[in-house]
Amino acid sequence: MSSPSLMLKAPFDGIVVLLADVPDPAFAEGILGEGIALDPLGDTLHAPCDGEVVQCARAKHAVTLRTDMGIEVLLHLGLDTVNLDGQGIELLVEVGSRVESGAPLCRFDADRLARGATALITPLIVTDGAGWQVRPLTALASGSRVRCGEPLLRLEAAEAAPSATTDATGSAQERALTLALGGGLHARPAARLRAIAQRHEVTLTVVAEENEADSASLSALMNLGLAHGSSLTLMARGAHAELALDEAEALLTTPEAEEHGQEAPSESLPTAGEGQLPGLVASPGLALGPLVPYRAALPEVPVDGEGDAVERLRLRQALVRVGESLQASMHRAERDGQAAEAEIFAAHQAWLEDPDLQAAAGVRLAAGRSAGHAWREALDAEADRLLATGNALLMGRVADLRDLQCRVMAELADPQGKPGLDLPAGAIVIAEDLTPSELVTIASRQPAGLCLAAGGTTSHVAILARARGIPCLVAMGERVLRMASSDRAVLDAEQGLLEPTPDAERLAAVEANIRDNARRAAEEREAAQAPATTVDGRDVEVGANVGSAAEARLAAEQGADGIGLMRSEFLFLERRSAPDEEDQRCEYQAAVEALGGKPVIIRTLDIGADKQLPYLMLPQVPNPALGVRGVRLWQRHPDLLDSQLRALLRVEPLETLRIMVPMVSDASELHWVRGRMQSLAKEQGLTILPRLGAMIEVPSAALCAASLAEEADFLSIGTNDLTQYVLAMDREDPHLAARADVLHPGVLHLIQATVTGAAGKCPVGVCGAAAGDPLAALVLVALGVDELSVEPARIPAIKAAIRRLDARTLADELPALLRLADAMAVREHLAAWQQASQDTTTTNLERMPS
Ligand code: PEP
Ligand code: MG
Repeated sequence: MSSPSLMLKAPFDGIVVLLADVPDPAFAEGILGEGIALDPLGDTLHAPCDGEVVQCARAKHAVTLRTDMGIEVLLHLGLDTVNLDGQGIELLVEVGSRVESGAPLCRFDADRLARGATALITPLIVTDGAGWQVRPLTALASGSRVRCGEPLLRLEAAEAAPSATTDATGSAQERALTLALGGGLHARPAARLRAIAQRHEVTLTVVAEENEADSASLSALMNLGLAHGSSLTLMARGAHAELALDEAEALLTTPEAEEHGQEAPSESLPTAGEGQLPGLVASPGLALGPLVPYRAALPEVPVDGEGDAVERLRLRQALVRVGESLQASMHRAERDGQAAEAEIFAAHQAWLEDPDLQAAAGVRLAAGRSAGHAWREALDAEADRLLATGNALLMGRVADLRDLQCRVMAELADPQGKPGLDLPAGAIVIAEDLTPSELVTIASRQPAGLCLAAGGTTSHVAILARARGIPCLVAMGERVLRMASSDRAVLDAEQGLLEPTPDAERLAAVEANIRDNARRAAEEREAAQAPATTVDGRDVEVGANVGSAAEARLAAEQGADGIGLMRSEFLFLERRSAPDEEDQRCEYQAAVEALGGKPVIIRTLDIGADKQLPYLMLPQVPNPALGVRGVRLWQRHPDLLDSQLRALLRVEPLETLRIMVPMVSDASELHWVRGRMQSLAKEQGLTILPRLGAMIEVPSAALCAASLAEEADFLSIGTNDLTQYVLAMDREDPHLAARADVLHPGVLHLIQATVTGAAGKCPVGVCGAAAGDPLAALVLVALGVDELSVEPARIPAIKAAIRRLDARTLADELPALLRLADAMAVREHLAAWQQASQDTTTTNLERMPS
């Protein structure tokens, strides 16, 4: 006699997703129970079997049926749909309704759900199937298509097995608390509550007002309808009741990961609408393209193999070699007492031996891939799976996986080949953070834009992005790394928003805007070689910030009136030792020649804090930003800086070269450098000396600008560091990036003090990022600076903005601006002023006779 069984049927037309592949650990790890999932192709959820509706979620996204045999089946429409609070879902049943298999349970607006939820994948879970075995139908593979009503899962009566005993003796212990979960007591936390009770072998009951639910029944828990802020009492009975209550309380009173600060590092990011992700504008612009995650370059391996057997052998040998080297590293770490490091190697070893990973590679080998490529694809798939879970712990393991991917591929790579970068042109690239050299590599693929989880607007990556005119948002938080891939996303690096799934109307508007911007940029480029003169007749020099002679050539083409800042440290980065004097001279000479007689300011080495050189080995200090950096380095490494100065003094003609000293605190430091320059010049038999200037980055330098201007031939305000030091906000800290704003009245006061102090003594420029910020640049001109130095790509736009500016009118606003309380108020005041001046211009134009 065959044992009793039940068939669960597909609740809509859809694509099969195995439970282990559902990007939510509560489902993928079976915490809620066994089952299967479907990605819907329809818009109505139907009953998978006959039964009674025993639970309808408050947010309408989940329904549980109980069959006559007592089996409970949960249908969970989409992932994280609880956050939609019922929007886009119409329930067609209520608790107590009896339904037949195939009866409609709810209707949903798939577009609406897709915009607000993590995914539409709908798990069908046997949440209470004690005594039943769940058997997926073998014919159903992941990715296969099923029609509504087709069989999906078979449940068979299991042999009676001793059930886990619960120690329900002893008096009940209670704990009153307030629910902190944003989505209320929905399926995932309910399942975790049940797991806690099982682990500690207690009975755990949730009591809310008149109602109570045993944690053994998910539907009963969810039926309590508890929302964020609900009061409830937990009651536990059993030997470990206290422990269970501790864990349960922690679960219910801790906001879920999505609500933690980890998502939005900055308090003052732009307000994002539905489906948008905010960030700080590090490089302005508008972009449209596919969202592509960045991965460090992988060793180059052939795609196609030379036969299954050959490639299998190669892969096996590579795995053995990597395994041996991991073993050796692990023993070394253990011997040196580095337990944490040893553990990491042990974890890598475990991945390496993982039969599932090896099987996944085997499938690809059978399909004709080379050993290296099969390994690459297998680990890519695993990494994607982990990333899609949204679980911080699992996502954290992706870095290990990548490491291992790279190690094994390196064993199989062509030793002559270069590492490849898998990035299509025109992509909006997503990354945690980038090193300057990674950015340069990515830039060679002509990305449409960049979105970084970390970073600040004055970080060096931001500087490089601006230099290349690549729209870039930073400080977006970890969430950007979990963005579902999208073929056409919009990066609005004007408003500070990423829109992964814009609708057709928005796409058309953005395309039109990009066309308009391109037309305007072309006009601005046409006029870029001409001087920038304000409406009221002030000439403002617009120079360029560059990192190399090659960039200086680019800057000249973009219309630079000179080089306002050549960051010489870029020559010293990414090398094993410092460039020698001749190498440096060649680079400086080339930069001077690129500008054909226009002034070129080269800054002496600015190392320390965020810019380190491996071969300098500066000691670790608690506060490197306040330590030995910039000009202070001269005392510790006189050879290095003397050799740079010698190289600079060999540039011809010295009349166009200007030397600038970073991180100056007062005139005595500049005086010392001038003395050094004079003695080296004397050794070289020079009679003409280049002009020597100081950067104003330290508040004391701004406050002592008058005495500094006596010693200096020019001053240049480094607003990036000045802002950092005035506001005591680390420029690299993404949590502070939105508040470390140059338009803070405190910073503006110091810029004004610099201009006033230097008046009549020497010119003042600005070479920090503020010079290229369309709003801040206008304020700087109104404050009276003589020169702005910006990334080359910004020159045409900044010149155009200066030509539209009536600096005197804006200068009239300065006293009011400087009295305001914070940067936000300054930005608002400026925006209102700009609007009012535009309105006046329009009215005047309308009045003009045609
Ligand atoms: C500055 O601090 O504003 C500056 C231009 O220097 P850097 O960004 O290289 O520190
Ligand atoms: Mg600086």
